[in-house]
Amino acid sequence: MTAVATRPGRVEVHGVRKSYAGVEVLHGVDLVVEPGTVTVILGPSGSGKSTLLRSINHLEKVDRGFVALDGELVGYRRKGNNLHELKEKELLRQRTRFGFVFQSFNLFPHLTALANVVEAPVSAQGRPRAEVEAEARALLARVGLGGREKAYPRQLSGGQQQRVAIARALAMKPAVLLFDEPTSALDPELVGEVLAVIEKLAEDGTTMIVVTHEIGFARRAADRVVFMDDGRIVESGPPEQVLDDPQHERTKAFLARVL
Ligand code: ADP
Ligand code: MG
Repeated sequence: MTAVATRPGRVEVHGVRKSYAGVEVLHGVDLVVEPGTVTVILGPSGSGKSTLLRSINHLEKVDRGFVALDGELVGYRRKGNNLHELKEKELLRQRTRFGFVFQSFNLFPHLTALANVVEAPVSAQGRPRAEVEAEARALLARVGLGGREKAYPRQLSGGQQQRVAIARALAMKPAVLLFDEPTSALDPELVGEVLAVIEKLAEDGTTMIVVTHEIGFARRAADRVVFMDDGRIVESGPPEQVLDDPQHERTKAFLARVL
């Protein structure tokens, strides 16, 4: 258990509030994600799931509260009693500790699968290309795309593109992977292959926060399910508790709609 306790990837969200144009959409969110665990966030559209995920890696600046990764504030540096916002360069370096997988893949269309995976570690982390390329080939194999290194995104299915995006996120060796509805843009027959890759990562002990409507996935892969509604975490717990014995009316109503 010591090995688990000392691995990186502990995310702490404390009292996070966020407004857009004076309208508060996160009303004080608290969440702790332990290293090596999978947290699935469920909730209706507009409940603040994406905003929370984007706040975790400081793509959104929170108005109140804080986020910490392994005890280090995200987006800020402490100086005495004051907080200073990180400079862009420091922020970008810190952000590489989070891998982010979007609904819409966001691959570079003019780069091959391999080049998409190699790009950031070489250009942002300044790592040697040959070494990164060897790792990238192994990562593509790990997501079931060995042999497709030279394919361009347009030559790949949506499911394959999303698996390249997962390999690309892993190439930065992040402490935590954040997924925002990774299968929502996929044709139904392609959802399974992407979920299977994410489940394999879960078995390997990758720390992940996954926003999804895939209840079956939550049941199989989640250590913890968090249900959000209207900018708040309404309830959270092990999947069998939240999914099979929800305590709140809003959770019950949501599950009745998606199941
Ligand atoms: P979810 O991911 O659960 O669907 P979001 O986090 O995307 O929810 O959105 C939460 C609320 O914040 C919604 O009411 C949405 O309209 C609003 N919102 C999200 N992003 C912005 C933005 N950039 N500007 C203004 N309002 C936003
Ligand atoms: Mg969203």
